[in-house]
Amino acid sequence: MTRRVRTRIAPSPTGFLHLGTARTALFSWAFARHHGGDFILRIEDTDVARSTQEAVDQIIAAMNWLRLDYDEGPFYQMQRLDRYRAVIDKMLAEGTAYHCYCTPDELDAMREAQRARGEKPRYDGRWRSEPGKALPPVPAGVPPVVRFRNPVDGDVTWNDMVKGQITISNRELDDLIISRPDGTPTYNFCVVVDDWDMQISHVIRGDDHVNNTPRQINILRALGAELPEYGHVPMILGPDGDKLSKRHGAVSVMQYEEGGYLPDAMVNYLARLGWSHGDDELFDRAQLVAWFDGHHLARSPAQWDAAKLNWVNAHVIKSTPDDALAALVARMLAQRGANVPADDRLARMCALFKDRCATLIELADWLGMYFVDVSPSEADLSAHVTDVVRPALQSLRGRLAEIDWDKGTIAATIKEILTAHGLKMPQLAHALRVLVCGRTQTPSIDAVLELFHRDVVLRRLQGV
Ligand code: GLU
Repeated sequence: MTRRVRTRIAPSPTGFLHLGTARTALFSWAFARHHGGDFILRIEDTDVARSTQEAVDQIIAAMNWLRLDYDEGPFYQMQRLDRYRAVIDKMLAEGTAYHCYCTPDELDAMREAQRARGEKPRYDGRWRSEPGKALPPVPAGVPPVVRFRNPVDGDVTWNDMVKGQITISNRELDDLIISRPDGTPTYNFCVVVDDWDMQISHVIRGDDHVNNTPRQINILRALGAELPEYGHVPMILGPDGDKLSKRHGAVSVMQYEEGGYLPDAMVNYLARLGWSHGDDELFDRAQLVAWFDGHHLARSPAQWDAAKLNWVNAHVIKSTPDDALAALVARMLAQRGANVPADDRLARMCALFKDRCATLIELADWLGMYFVDVSPSEADLSAHVTDVVRPALQSLRGRLAEIDWDKGTIAATIKEILTAHGLKMPQLAHALRVLVCGRTQTPSIDAVLELFHRDVVLRRLQGV
């Protein structure tokens, strides 16, 4: 590759960062990083009615959360209007674009007539000058649009990074409007000027843009610009085979942060939606960057699989250092009203529980018992805190008040009480779990108890 690799993500700030856009951003980022190139963030905000600053902020927050760092930008299209106008003027001067004075009514009539003749509706080129052709007289009071002079013959062919060779005949393309009557440039045109100015070498985007590509290539050629490579990634589908949407659950990246997913898990999971590296399912960012060379992008759409995301997240939680987990869980517990320092004790709790959690929410649910009162169910109480176990619980409470508070001593004390009362471990352990932890299943009870403040345990065992 001779050209410097420069990729971009170009979201429209009309809402949160969608999972599909995040996946495209990830591919563009990983490809740039793989080649030691640049990754650029461009905000396509020309749809003024629907673009908001809040959406821009959310997009940037999601990019930061996923740690998709960009080298340049954010660039805003609305700040580049002068540049678009300058390029339009240049094209008008060079004859690669022209004014068209058709009114909306005229265009409707044109399409109507074409339909009536059984033709595909398209602009008929009536304001396009040709040698020997007389143009209609310029009507008064009609502000013109500017149209691109699309080649009439030949094909546009590109070798798509994902889909292979794609060829579209120029006969399929009419003369696209690049500037509206009020002088604002249109979407396809802005993309072209931006990709040109930003020297984008590889455009990786959703395959809903395939139809725009031949038009954009023609305009780039008219401008004498070097063409980027294109890669059109198939959409992400929901479990029912329809395009992934809100109907299928959360589609905003940041909802996954709230749901207790780790950014490394999202990156790992999203990368596998439409890309593969052999049979590898679990990998970190460095591996992704090392492997992501633009090959092995899938032609068929990937399907969202919430269970697999949970599996990846569980793996990432397990391999995250305990103090890092503690900081994240402390934040979650604080949101629930329990103010917990992310200290060594919290880190040890994370160590004890992290391998049974698919999300940080589940981890916070576990650790909640250490900080917030528990309310065991009546059913668990009557099943496990029986008259047979009660005397043993009372003696144990007495002993727990005086022993050294560590796992080994707690375990030895429990054994002592079992022998004295002729009970089996599960009888006492279940009762302890119900009373102290509010549930019947936990890791080894001595390890669980050790991380409680002694006073909390004694209080929960009071009056049994
Ligand atoms: N703004 C477009 C979108 O959000 C992206 C265009 C592009 O990547 O070329 O779909």
